[in-house]
Amino acid sequence: MNFIKAYIDIDGVLLRNGKNGPELIPRFKRVVAFLKEHYDCYWLTTHVRHGSGGAVAKMAPFLRKAGIELSILEGIGPTEWRTLKTEAIDFDRPFIWLEDDPLPSEIQVLRANKCVHNLEVVDWRKKTTRLTVRRFRRILRGRELFLDFRV
Ligand SMILES: [Mg+2]
Repeated sequence: MNFIKAYIDIDGVLLRNGKNGPELIPRFKRVVAFLKEHYDCYWLTTHVRHGSGGAVAKMAPFLRKAGIELSILEGIGPTEWRTLKTEAIDFDRPFIWLEDDPLPSEIQVLRANKCVHNLEVVDWRKKTTRLTVRRFRRILRGRELFLDFRV
């Protein structure tokens, strides 16, 4: 199992706003495969509050349309939370949180736990803040440097 957890939002992260409404992000398969290979993955989305069925139900029509097997979502675990997504975050383990629209109160919780840098804000309108494998590689490299530094 991977050491670092990844908390993954759906709307605005794995789905982006296209001209005709929400659409699957470019290179979806590659991005999800990379996440699953390098991180211990969990849903952190309004579609999942109990069990991961909501995430699959949300993603299914988009995956079907793109000809991608639903099984690509296997291995992404559920989370439980009520009001703030940060309730679901395990602050005892290293993590990244992929989110397009964190609430000020959620950022406050991250700040209190000294974890603001673990938040990776995704904004598909800007090239530098899209969700790409290149971005993950950069994040992972940064993490290595950080761990080296602490040793
Ligand atoms: Mg979102």
